Amino acid sequence: MTIDRLWFDPTEWLAGGAWRPASETLPIEDPSTGSEIGALAKGGAAEIDEAVAAAEAARTGDWGRMTAAERGRVLMKIGRIVETRAEDLAILESTDVGKPLKQARADVAALARYMEFYGGAADKVMGDTIPYLDGYTVYTLREPHGATGHIVPWNYPMQIIGRSVGAALAMGNACVLKPAEEASLTALAFARIATEAGLPAGALNVVPGLGEEAGAALSAHPGVRHLSFTGSVPVGRLVQTAAAGNVVPVTLELGGKSPQIVFADADLDAALPFLVNAGIQNAGQTCSASSRILVERPRYAEVVQRMAERYRALRVGRALDDLELGPLISARQKKIVESYLAASDDLTVAARGEIAASAPRGGHYVAPMLLADVRPDHILARDEIFGPAQVVIPFDDEDEAVAIANGTDYGLVASVWSDNGARQMRMAKRVRAGQVFINNYGAGGGVELPFGGVGRSGHGREKGFEALYGFSVLKTVAARHG
Ligand code: NAD
Repeated sequence: MTIDRLWFDPTEWLAGGAWRPASETLPIEDPSTGSEIGALAKGGAAEIDEAVAAAEAARTGDWGRMTAAERGRVLMKIGRIVETRAEDLAILESTDVGKPLKQARADVAALARYMEFYGGAADKVMGDTIPYLDGYTVYTLREPHGATGHIVPWNYPMQIIGRSVGAALAMGNACVLKPAEEASLTALAFARIATEAGLPAGALNVVPGLGEEAGAALSAHPGVRHLSFTGSVPVGRLVQTAAAGNVVPVTLELGGKSPQIVFADADLDAALPFLVNAGIQNAGQTCSASSRILVERPRYAEVVQRMAERYRALRVGRALDDLELGPLISARQKKIVESYLAASDDLTVAARGEIAASAPRGGHYVAPMLLADVRPDHILARDEIFGPAQVVIPFDDEDEAVAIANGTDYGLVASVWSDNGARQMRMAKRVRAGQVFINNYGAGGGVELPFGGVGRSGHGREKGFEALYGFSVLKTVAARHG
């Protein structure tokens, strides 16, 4: 997409229902070509102040006065408009993030579904009545936090906005969204759609800008009552530390080194597509990417050989050409990934994919790499690479599989491939992860499924009904009436 196909001005940012011109801008890059395709608003502390003030004001204005059912209706209308603009949004996301068009289309569908789900859920979150002493009536209320901060990464902007802003709005919070400097276009498009759907002024405010400026200002702002951060571990630490200063709760959705554990009795025909796709989806730039494949020794050689066949057929190219992989987000990310891959010298490269001849020069392309016979303590088996590389590690028995699976600092996702029901149940309990999938990986990513990590992968849950509890405060009311 050239910038002239944009239907809005990305140098504007939103607070209190008014789009304002930015005093400074950042370049927008197309990762498929490495060229600059436009300018993006660059907000900082002053813009964050205005956005938080607008969110606070919205809580006592039209937004705060809406009933839960009315909030739900607005969210569902946002979802319907997203659907009608699906192809424009997909092209925008594909261009801005460098993700293959089919993945961008799936992201748009997920955003619409989040709005439908959280719209429908808005008036179904209820408190309890609690049996207590004679002469008392005790009940609980679920109330919004107030102004909530949402700091989002560049890899799945629409999905992450859907799950975090969608759930926060459903509970009546007023949001300040700080999208990633590398990919903010769909956040801005989403906010315009939300206004069109009737979301009152100040319920959603958007300030694009640098993490260390706008992001840091939002994390430390005393008016923000809850922070939702999705991104890297080092920045997650900074955000949590800033939030501690104001003693506000934080949801951290961080990285992972998620294993798929393949036992010898697994149905390999069913497993194979998941083993590879979960590693190379979005060129491996996925928090829940499965970058470690653990295989029981009797089937090890067969799995490596069959995964390698698939790798050799993978092609990398311009996002809108919709091959299996697009470019990485930036030259910086490509450099990080390549320096990791350079650490593979002592390993067996089982196969590599191919960069298509049609891939424009200047794009940030990396051919996917499959590595075999990797020791579990190797840096490529421990660190999150956030690029298209997977390691395959053999194991001898269940205990060893658990030890390897649990042997990193992370705990986001794991899957178990086996036909043995008792083993499936044992492994689901023993593996340390926020979600465990049995004979699949990701379960299609349904918005209904609570999602989050343990260990360095973060804490708190988004998605599903569970998110609504996180985006609300429980108040206990105890009335003594004799
Ligand atoms: P990042 O941490 O560099 O940036 C994420 C966001 O934080 C961006 O909006 C950025 O501007 C902002 N930021 C940067 N510095 C900041 C600061 N000092 N204060 C406040 N905000 C700041 O991460 P990234 O490179 O954009 O994303 C990749 C990481 O995100 C990976 O580790 C990946 O695993 C993780 N991720 C996790 C999930 C999940 O759901 N668990 C989803 C997607 C990505």
